[in-house]
Amino acid sequence: MSDPEAGQRREHGTPLLEVRDLVVHHGQLRALDAISLRVLPGEVYAIIGANGAGKSTLLRTIAGLHQPTAGSVLFDGADVSRLRPERRVTQGIVMVPEGRRLFGSLSVEENLKVGATYARQGPWTIEHVYEMFGWMRERRNQLTAQLSGGEQQAVAIGRALVANPRVLLLDELSLGLAPVVVQRIYGMLPQILQTGLTVLLVEQDVSQALRVASHIQCLLEGRTTLEGRPADVTADQVEAAYFGMAGTAPASRPAEGSET
Ligand code: ATP
Repeated sequence: MSDPEAGQRREHGTPLLEVRDLVVHHGQLRALDAISLRVLPGEVYAIIGANGAGKSTLLRTIAGLHQPTAGSVLFDGADVSRLRPERRVTQGIVMVPEGRRLFGSLSVEENLKVGATYARQGPWTIEHVYEMFGWMRERRNQLTAQLSGGEQQAVAIGRALVANPRVLLLDELSLGLAPVVVQRIYGMLPQILQTGLTVLLVEQDVSQALRVASHIQCLLEGRTTLEGRPADVTADQVEAAYFGMAGTAPASRPAEGSET
């Protein structure tokens, strides 16, 4: 089920998704200032940072919802910086947006069908989503506005999965959810990764990000303040990078070809 080239790419340290020196403005505000990252196939790459750090802007730019002032987004070795959002979806870049953004007046199944509009061929079907989230099948005709926050988040993930992403962009899954619900949602990640997906997620909940990620990058006011594997960064480094205290030094990415 996994991408046949994924192992090779991973072995050679060739990223599936790469961002190079990305600069994004919102009007006069420089929301992202020369951000770069390399996401290897099969990894869970987490962007952490406080409110306003630029995390959502980064994900939305990768998805094609903001145009960069400078820099580029490369996917599978090709520059996709100028592609329209829906073209990126058909290439396999699919986002679960912050706040879910479901159609509340549509049913669970109708929302899932919306996600399949620009679907690639692949293992994920509505049926497969129902197999993963058992409760969803029974409630497929219910309006999503009537669901709890956690249930809505699950539908938003399902809606993204039916497009058969190669890289799944997850924006603040934990937002507004009780810790136990967040645990349950993140508990689905291994099952999702088993189908050969790569995940780039944004998370304000640092401990959650450190638990699930193979690589983290901290943003502060649009700049990278720390980068590395969770095992290679200390709690003090993370705290300093997150809040912007002096003395932070980026931890380097492991050598090409090493395990992540
Ligand atoms: P949060 O966790 O609060 O969503 P974030 O790290 O995702 O924060 P962004 O939402 O990317 O940060 O915002 C980065 C900066 O850009 C902030 O100063 C924000 O106010 C500003 N910003 C974001 N979107 C827009 C927009 N559409 N128009 C103007 N400014 C914006």
